[in-house]
Amino acid sequence: MIGKKFTFIKSATGIRDFPPIELPHLAFAGRSNVGKSSLINKLANTKKLAKVSQTPGKTRLLNIFNVDDRFLLVDLPGYGYAKVSKEMQKQWRKMIEDYLITTKDIMILVFLIDSRHEPQKKDRELYEFLVYNDIEFIIAATKTDKLSKNQLNKNLAVLRKEFKVPDYRFYPVSSKTGEGIKELEDYLKLTIDN
Ligand code: GDP
Repeated sequence: MIGKKFTFIKSATGIRDFPPIELPHLAFAGRSNVGKSSLINKLANTKKLAKVSQTPGKTRLLNIFNVDDRFLLVDLPGYGYAKVSKEMQKQWRKMIEDYLITTKDIMILVFLIDSRHEPQKKDRELYEFLVYNDIEFIIAATKTDKLSKNQLNKNLAVLRKEFKVPDYRFYPVSSKTGEGIKELEDYLKLTIDN
């Protein structure tokens, strides 16, 4: 668990719509269906903080939670949902990028990538944006339980090569089996409290 009391504050339409609360941010970003809600719920030790759904692309706002008056947990909208118009995708992208640039000095970002797939275009775009803007991030490679050990190791090697972060910022995780969650939690707690 990364906190005790999770209080929903609001769903914001963008960075300008944020409440004036001076706490560090812990933000989560990833493609639709990457397992973001499941990971947030796992870290919060609840089933219902973030909505897990079979319909990707539903979250369009930045959902903000106050955690123990210690930090704000920010659930960014899942991007890259194919059934949404180009215009809408552009708006979401701008909303996410504005948020990341504006908060970069007070924010820890968990960038979720599905361990089952080759690096995807949308993930590369976010990666390049982060590197270009000098925004640090932690990678959570999700759904590790869905692959054999062998295949997982192969895929993780490909991801590590493409999305370069130091080892202590790369976490293969499964929200289903709990694999890797403790390691990620420990790192997040340490970073938030510093
Ligand atoms: P989001 O759209 O990124 O918030 O993704 P969700 O958390 O809603 O998950 C999308 C789908 O993947 C759901 O059917 C989840 O049950 C499933 N899922 C999420 N994480 C895992 C995981 O670690 N292992 C497995 N096997 N399934 C997962």
